[in-house]
Amino acid sequence: MAGKRDVLGDKVLVLNRHYQAIQITTVQRAICHLVKGTAKVITPDWTTHSLEEWIEACRFYHNGNGRLIRSPSLSFLAPDAIYLVSFDRLPRIEVVFSRANLLVRDGYTCQYCGKSVKNPKDRTIDHVLPRSRGGKTTWENVVLCCRKCNLKKGDRTPEEAGMLLRKTPKAPPWESIFMEDFPEEKKEVWRQFLSFAGLFKD
Ligand SMILES: [Zn+2]
Repeated sequence: MAGKRDVLGDKVLVLNRHYQAIQITTVQRAICHLVKGTAKVITPDWTTHSLEEWIEACRFYHNGNGRLIRSPSLSFLAPDAIYLVSFDRLPRIEVVFSRANLLVRDGYTCQYCGKSVKNPKDRTIDHVLPRSRGGKTTWENVVLCCRKCNLKKGDRTPEEAGMLLRKTPKAPPWESIFMEDFPEEKKEVWRQFLSFAGLFKD
């Protein structure tokens, strides 16, 4: 059926049992949870529905996209959000070190001169304590850096080079990385849930 694949791949917000937003999944995975009974649909008015209840409610309810999931025997709207009925944890607090996450943490700016380094050609990563002197590739020792500052600093520490870091590098809070991945078009639909979790910043 036309569009079905799109609907199944659409984004669904996942809340834990305390209604804290913890993850983004696809409609397809959300349906698996609903079928297994490990999750319920949650609507912006905080009403929760098991799959059976949701199918029934869909006869009256319209979500943002109003897109239908259809099989020969039943049809229901793709949920915007689900909550996991017995999962009460928050995501892993530690954010994995990666180049992509580093770009987000450092706001695509050189941590020495503050210049924007959105263009990959303009940027590199700098080991605050140089690798040649035992510096590790960790959140605490790596910053985003423009080519010019990197050249200037060379094989020295910032102190030795007379350069100042704009802030002390450390692991970013998981929420900042989580929010970076958010599909813009869903922010409005999910606003309520994100605000509740303290994640939505206007
Ligand atoms: Zn710079």
